[in-house]
Amino acid sequence: MSNSVALMGVKGGPAIRPHSHMPTANLLRLDGKTIVVDAGLGVTRGICDQGVALTDIDMIFITHLHSDHYLELGPLLHTAWTAGLNRPIPVIGPVGLSAYWVGFQQSMGFDIALRIQDEGRCHFGSLAKISVLTPGQAQYGDITVTTLRNTHPPIKETFALRFETGDGTVVFSGDTAFMPQMTEFAQGADLLVHEAMLRDGVEALCARMTNGDERLRAHILNSHTDAADVGRIATEAGVKQLALNHFVPDGDPDFTDDHWTAEVRKHWSGPLHLGKDGIVIAF
Ligand SMILES: [Zn+2]
Ligand SMILES: [Zn+2]
Repeated sequence: MSNSVALMGVKGGPAIRPHSHMPTANLLRLDGKTIVVDAGLGVTRGICDQGVALTDIDMIFITHLHSDHYLELGPLLHTAWTAGLNRPIPVIGPVGLSAYWVGFQQSMGFDIALRIQDEGRCHFGSLAKISVLTPGQAQYGDITVTTLRNTHPPIKETFALRFETGDGTVVFSGDTAFMPQMTEFAQGADLLVHEAMLRDGVEALCARMTNGDERLRAHILNSHTDAADVGRIATEAGVKQLALNHFVPDGDPDFTDDHWTAEVRKHWSGPLHLGKDGIVIAF
């Protein structure tokens, strides 16, 4: 069976601008299952662009409650509903996701009630079977999912995910500062999808900000991983392929693929995918 990850949004952070990528969303196909990992803006379009019907989603994981990872979760499920979804989908994410789900339904209450009454749609709220993501291991059919609390202050409920079957293993770092434990967590994975930052690019990004202050710069530097360190983790973990996503900065013409590659290559000589929206990586 062929396993793959489609990177549907590789930009770090919520703002989009001309020439930027979309925020975080990934489509994992593993052991015949279709799994969404993070649901940032654009996730719904991204899934359809992969030729996957919204009604075919088996599970959704949300790594943490920064908007660039779940802003479009409600719209994704609502659109799947109008596309014919009529069975509950497990949605696994941090504490607080239930409140979002209740709030989303309230915000769309008029439309949801109308479509049930006027179009005979099924009950909407029960389509998301929400459960709380906690560190440890859980089994979903043949897929073992291991969850590691990562380092993304000030958020505490924030996680890296490892999906494993006898047929393949993929690890998503989530948003995290460099953490040595990631090496063990990603050990031997067929594919590591890791977030990445260029320090010089962060300075340039912050110099352009019009409505943030020094706190934004400190947040970024304290809660993300230098591209060179990503290469180091990949090598020490002995992964088979490395993909970068959640680029900070993204869409800045002063920071090209060559800059990212040069940083990662300081420590990693294996297969490297610089994420672009829509690319599919088989593993
Ligand atoms: Zn993020
Ligand atoms: Zn984040």
